[in-house]
Amino acid sequence: MKLTQRPRRLRRSPQIRAMARETYILPQKLIYPLFIAEGENIKEEIEAMPGQYRFSVDRLDEILSELVGLKIGGVLLFGIPNYKDECGSSAWDENGAVQTAVKYIKQNFPQLVVITDVCMCEYTSHGHCGILENNDVHNDKTLEVLAKAALSHAKAGADMVAPSDMMDGRIGYIREVLDKNGFENTLIMAYSAKYASAFYGPFREAAGSAPSFGDRASYQMDPANGDEALREIALDMEEGADILMVKPALAYLDVLYRAKEISDRPVAAYSVSGEYSMIKAAAEKGFIDEKRIIKESALCIFRAGADMLITYFALELAKFIQDGEL
Ligand SMILES: [Zn+2]
Repeated sequence: MKLTQRPRRLRRSPQIRAMARETYILPQKLIYPLFIAEGENIKEEIEAMPGQYRFSVDRLDEILSELVGLKIGGVLLFGIPNYKDECGSSAWDENGAVQTAVKYIKQNFPQLVVITDVCMCEYTSHGHCGILENNDVHNDKTLEVLAKAALSHAKAGADMVAPSDMMDGRIGYIREVLDKNGFENTLIMAYSAKYASAFYGPFREAAGSAPSFGDRASYQMDPANGDEALREIALDMEEGADILMVKPALAYLDVLYRAKEISDRPVAAYSVSGEYSMIKAAAEKGFIDEKRIIKESALCIFRAGADMLITYFALELAKFIQDGEL
């Protein structure tokens, strides 16, 4: 190496390193997932996700104040209904957990962007993401109930609906129903590349949404495929998605990078429950440095191209940012 070429010079001091750093995280780019339970006075820790809770709407104030105080961008809401049936009718109940929470948050914490997960698996007795026919999810019948659920969220005041079901044509269908009902300004965040992943394990305990038979491989994507994700993303853009999402995040950074390359819209990454619980469990055993792993994981997801990040570590990350540690 010629002596004029010394890349290490750029790493000489903390000040120069900070100046030359390529990736910074803003709290406004973080989205915190919240599990909303029906009922009163519920704040219940999720066993498989230490530090994460199911809340009833009347117990949300504390966490919402904290999120706003840390300037976190928004929340992604999941409903945990008391009543489940074959077709998941609680999903579009205007007094359901999610709908009530949306109204409450928009009224009392207008700083937060409110995004709602739109899927059927939390609401169906069988735990699949749609309407069953011959033990398989029927695509087009599912579109109708998804649109009903999305519309009920929009009516409650959601800024954005996020269909996570992976049915064909759902983005276009939901867009049309929203527009027809006067919700042209409600955004759609599409779970475009959602993989059939074992990283969702702890979430299913949290939301009580494990399928009672079979798996979701007939509608979610094969972890072996990358090109397929790009086709899904292209379709969702064509159908009018405002934001595209890749899920999970850490094991799919190549997909995230490629998604960002082809997309002319913001790309979100969802760092899922398994990513969270693995860090928590390993840190508890003293195998890893929890703080450093949380920071490094988030930085790498943004470096790969994420414009925003849905993460159970949103509060920790925002505190690091506030303390000048990230
Ligand atoms: Zn689902």
